[in-house]
Order: sequence, then structure tokens, then C-alpha cells
Amino acid sequence: MNPIINILNKDKLSKEDIVQLLSLTEKDEIEIIRQKAIETMLQYTGDKINLRGLIEFSNICRCNCFYCGIRENNENIDRYILSKAEILQQAILSARLGFGSIVLQSGEMQNERFAGFVADIIRRIKNETTSRKLPDGLGITLCCGEQKEDVYQEWFDAGAHRYLLRIESSNKELFSKLHPDEQTYESRIESLKKLKNIGYQTGTGVIIGIPRQSLEQLTSDVLFFKNMDVDMIGMGPYIPHHDTPMDFYIEEWEQRKEEIFKMSLKMIAVTRIFLKDVNIASTTALESISQYGREAGLQFGANVLMPMMTPTNRRESYKLYENKKLEDYISKDIHAFQIKMYDNYERIVNFEDWGDAPHYFNK
Ligand code: SAH
Repeated sequence: MNPIINILNKDKLSKEDIVQLLSLTEKDEIEIIRQKAIETMLQYTGDKINLRGLIEFSNICRCNCFYCGIRENNENIDRYILSKAEILQQAILSARLGFGSIVLQSGEMQNERFAGFVADIIRRIKNETTSRKLPDGLGITLCCGEQKEDVYQEWFDAGAHRYLLRIESSNKELFSKLHPDEQTYESRIESLKKLKNIGYQTGTGVIIGIPRQSLEQLTSDVLFFKNMDVDMIGMGPYIPHHDTPMDFYIEEWEQRKEEIFKMSLKMIAVTRIFLKDVNIASTTALESISQYGREAGLQFGANVLMPMMTPTNRRESYKLYENKKLEDYISKDIHAFQIKMYDNYERIVNFEDWGDAPHYFNK
């Protein structure tokens, strides 16, 4: 039998199996992995594409992650925080478009005022979006970095029920090459544990295609997701940004971007095959390399999509990376997208439903 099918038929993949799957480059070999991922997805999470309107509500950040365009030391961007009224408006619009959930994402700020601001906006969104169709209001995922336990608790009590905090790389050495000394690997892990203890559906993920990242490290990332027993995964390709210390990598990246894109799709497929019942997002960064990159992600086993709901006039200022799209054809016409997904792939866009990960309830 074909050795790839042999691997895919195993009950549990070993580390060596995952390395081997991620190393495949032939089109028909990748297609076999893709089909297995879709089969696994249909069995464990179904054919639905779960929507989260992405509201990037502030780019003010205390961190200096070497890859990120909104790092504190980048002085070439306008800093903003949306008003509560603006955030509420985008949340209500998301609900009216039929999205069951939103993601509130921001730079990392650690102070009482910010914590109170976020708690208050969560409560207001919950209040204003509760309806017959959404009896508990919009589902709210937060992505606001590392916080003290009582802040995570305050936000959970206010009504947020999912939290996304990427480990960026599960390899300690690589993590420290991506972040200044004051941001530690241990502290990220601690934060993930706090989130899980409080009861959040917890997500993590990595950046794919960072300098000198090996297949073994990416494999360890997949094993890390499993060991941490997370419910959601959000990962995507690294996309350079000129105003960061990683600008030295831009030329090499240009040569490698197709390969990085393919690796991101393989990571989605292998994560689906290995973790089975988790939610996996097809992330915006995929679209900075390939026009319909997010559709490709969905066809490699992802089941979550985050249409851009940041107010149009702020999108320019939330550039985590270069070439980030300012327009989103999916949020612009979600019904055209719904028809396209069904006609092309028999996938169902899931409206008016939180779209939680079965893994959280299967534990
Ligand atoms: N402050 C929040 C949100 C960060 S932005 C937090 O720390 O969680 C969300 C994600 O964007 C990050 O976790 C990172 O993985 C990703 N990101 C940032 N810069 C990127 C880049 N240049 N290329 C690809 N992904 C990037």
C-alpha cells in the first residue's frame, strides 16, 4: 500500500509520522492528506463553516514582538482605540449579518482602565445582541494577550467564553528569538493554563515560516496543541513587515512564500487529522499570499472563518504585517460567499450559531 495511506490509517500518528506528512511536496500526496483532513472534519466537527466577525478594536500595545507591525516601538502607525459606541455598532452589524460570534482583538494593554473598558463592552454587546435567534447574545472570543488571572476572570464573568492566545512557537528557543527577554515562554504557558482553569474555550496557535523554523519544530507545535488539550487553533503563515526587526528576512521570504503557504495548509490538515474535534480557523494571513487563501484553508480541514468587521477607516492602522487586505469580500457579501461555499465545496456557512468546538464538551 501507499506509505502515506498507511500512516493516515493509523489510530494515532507518531512524531515521525507527522514529520513525514509535513515533508510531502508532491501534489497528489498533499491531496491525499487534504482528503483525510476533510473526512476527519466531517466526522468530528461537520460540514459547517463557523463565523466570527473580527473586530480589531485597538492597536495600542505594550509588547515588542519582533514579527509584529503594531509592536510598541513602531512609530509609523496611528494608534487608536475604538469607542464603545463604535465597537458596539460593529458587533450589532455582525449579528445582523447573521454571524453567531465575534472576536475582539487588540494589542496587549495591562491596566485597570483597559480591563474595565473591555468588561463593560462585553456586557453591552451581550445585552444588545440577545434576541430570539441568539438567546445568549453573540458568542464572544477575546484575543487581548497576556493578562492577570483576575482580569481573565472579570472578562469571563462579563460574558466572554472563548480566548485565543497563540504560543507563536512551542519551541522555547525559537520563541525567545521572536520576542524580547521580558516576554517569556513560561508566562505564555501560565496564561494558557489560567484561561483553561477559568473555563474559557481556549485557543492557541503558531506562526508558520519564521526564519530557521524546522519541520521538527512544526511537528512539536502540533504535539503541543494536543498536550495542552486546547479547543481551538488559529495559525497562519508569517508575513513580513518593513517596520520590524525581522525586515532582514523579506528577500528570502519572497523566495519562499509559496512553500510557506503550502506548509500552512499542511499544518491545518495534519492538526485536523491529529486533534480531530477542535475548531481550526482559516486565518486572514493566508490571503496575503494567495487570493483565496482562506478558502484553501477551509478545504484543508479548517472550520472557522473570521470575516473582517473592523471599521474600514481603522484597517490601515491594524497592519500586523505587510499586504494585509483592507477589503474583505467575505464580510462584504456573506450571502454570495455562502452560495459559493455550497456550490463549490458543499460546505454550509453556519448562521446564528456560536459554533463552539465539540472538543470542549467531549472532554
Ligand atoms: N495582542 C494579542 C493579539 C495579537 S495579533 C495577542 O498577543 O494575542 C494576533 C496574532 O497575529 C498574533 O498572535 C500573531 O501570531 C499574528 N501575527 C502578528 N504579526 C504577524 C506577522 N508578521 N505574520 C503573521 N502573523 C502575525
